[in-house]
Formats: sequence, C-alpha cells, structure tokens
Amino acid sequence: MVYPCVKCGLCCRNVGIIEQLREFDNGSGICVNLTQDKLCGIYVSRPFFCNVVDMYKEVFRHHLSEHEYLKRNLEVCIELNRQARNFENRETLQKAHADIGNVLYRTGNRSVMLKD
Ligand code: SF4
Ligand code: SF4
Repeated sequence: MVYPCVKCGLCCRNVGIIEQLREFDNGSGICVNLTQDKLCGIYVSRPFFCNVVDMYKEVFRHHLSEHEYLKRNLEVCIELNRQARNFENRETLQKAHADIGNVLYRTGNRSVMLKD
C-alpha cells in the first residue's frame, strides 16, 4: 500500500483532538515533531498511530478492505484541505480518491481498467 499523501502537514496540526497523540500537542494542537517544511521530524520512529500502512496491517485490515481504508483516510485529508482552503491539494486528493479501485489488468496484449 502506498498512501497518496500530499505532505500538507495538516493532520499533524490537529493532534490535540487525538487521544493517542495528545502528548505531542505543543499547546495549540500542533505536533511538536512537525518541522517548518511540514514534515515529520521523527518520521522513521514516528508513533504507530501515525503510520497509515502499519495501522492497516495491524488493526484495520480486520474491519475494512484496503480500498475502503484508503478512501476513508483520504476523505479526512480532503476535508482538512477544504477547511484550510488549499484547493490544489484538495483536488489532488479527490483525484486519488476517485482513482482508488482502478486497476490496470493486463492479459496478453490487452489492458483493462477495472473498478471495484
Ligand atoms: S493531512 Fe493527509 S495529505 Fe496532508 S500530510 Fe496528513 S496524511 Fe498527508
Ligand atoms: S509524530 Fe510525526 S507523523 Fe505523527 S503527528 Fe507528529 S509530526 Fe505528524
């Protein structure tokens, strides 16, 4: 799984409302590990809760298909960018959301687009 993150950093600016990440709140909801360039300063050792791929493997795969999981996460990212009025990011994320489930299926010389 590859998550189509646009690196807006908005999820890391809202940790105050997430119980598992509250300890990282700098007092205004922003994670103390978020860098000036909107990246995670502890990316390699970031909390399990921040790792979208591991969260799926360990927790959500028992409840959701990978496509559904990606879509639901993307819906949060889209909403955060809508609220921040970052329309370029929102459009990119909406396109990624619409593309999930499209699989290029090759049989011999033929390519078929499948949608779930
Ligand atoms: S809000 Fe979504 S797109 Fe933006 S950094 Fe977080 S995971 Fe990536
Ligand atoms: S630890 Fe890193 S990925 Fe997790 S909220 Fe903070 S900056 Fe974001």
